[in-house]
Amino acid sequence: MKKELLNNLFESYHNYTAYDIRSDFIKHNEVKVKLENLAGNNLFEIKQIGTSVERREIYSLKLGKGKTKIFVWTQMHGDEPTATAAFFDLLNFFSSNDSFNELRKSILDNLEVHFVPMVNPDGAERYQRENAFNIDLNRDALRLEADESKLLWNYAEKLKPEFGFNMHDQNSYYTAGRTNNPASISLLTPPMDYVKSINYTREKSMQIIIKIREALEQFIPNQIARYSDDFELRAFGDNFTRFGISTILIESGFYRDDYNKDFVRKLNFTALISAFESIVESDYQKKFYAEYFAIPENNKLLFDLLLRNLTLEFNHRKFVVDIGINITKKLNRGKNEFYHEACIADIGDLSIFYGINEMNMNGYTIENHNELKIDEPANFKIAQNGITKYEIINGLLKSL
Ligand SMILES: [Zn+2]
Repeated sequence: MKKELLNNLFESYHNYTAYDIRSDFIKHNEVKVKLENLAGNNLFEIKQIGTSVERREIYSLKLGKGKTKIFVWTQMHGDEPTATAAFFDLLNFFSSNDSFNELRKSILDNLEVHFVPMVNPDGAERYQRENAFNIDLNRDALRLEADESKLLWNYAEKLKPEFGFNMHDQNSYYTAGRTNNPASISLLTPPMDYVKSINYTREKSMQIIIKIREALEQFIPNQIARYSDDFELRAFGDNFTRFGISTILIESGFYRDDYNKDFVRKLNFTALISAFESIVESDYQKKFYAEYFAIPENNKLLFDLLLRNLTLEFNHRKFVVDIGINITKKLNRGKNEFYHEACIADIGDLSIFYGINEMNMNGYTIENHNELKIDEPANFKIAQNGITKYEIINGLLKSL
């Protein structure tokens, strides 16, 4: 996409944001009500394609009358809603009438885009990755045991799209390369076999990824990563690639201070429109696929809080340790609100890692180190010269 058009689009995003939809938590009923309200809009063809195991409706939405078929599905992991939110922004974009009419028209005339938003509504309801009977739908592409997996597979099999966009969220601990830059967006062309062969299908998705990176790089410099391409025979992306669909996995990660994921949602919106435009223009074909491998790897190198060089006293001896703490967002279903749970993620030499927040604790001693265990709650005290100076309460550092 031409730079000026892309910048204008990015700057105009607020005109299309569906502000009534949160970026970090969406309930099935919100999807249902919003899609039902769109029923009279002749731009979109909305269908119920089936129900989840717990009988929640799963929908498809089609837009455009073009030849090239595109399939976008979101939230097959229930606690990964960012792209579902961006989906509603996209609908606002396509229903608008403004200076982007030419872009809109070229997409609608040349593409037929099919969305299946919120593939896993039962998981979304619980804010959990898995479905209602606790299986990961993205490891069910072979057995197709869950109703949701069957719907997703059947839809793709019938549609036979040229391109597939597999929309996910990843946690905040990934970086772009061996740096402390969070991987705000990670991209992957899922492999088709264990030796990661590259055929025409994969080559095309690599070219699209190069274009998406080109579009986003200016907004999030050095914060785009290449997701691990280890083959997973049970995953949808890998099987769709085998089936001949050029599949692009987009993972929404962490952007500094963007705890509600509003900014990465905007990046999702921008990534999809720029990819659609590139498919319309066929300009992705000019990209050399191997440029894909120049994207830095997605590495798990971050903790929410990293305390470096603490002193640990054990058997009257002193040792130097770092402590990495991670804070997980969990849903209290009864109250319908989030709470945070902090755990010790690692103890020892963590010098190869980084913290979203970090502190050098040289000269400070852990008071109650016997209670510190990996995967256990992060609550402890830190002293200097025998006087307690800091307290870690549920992962938050409080100075006393
Ligand atoms: Zn996921």
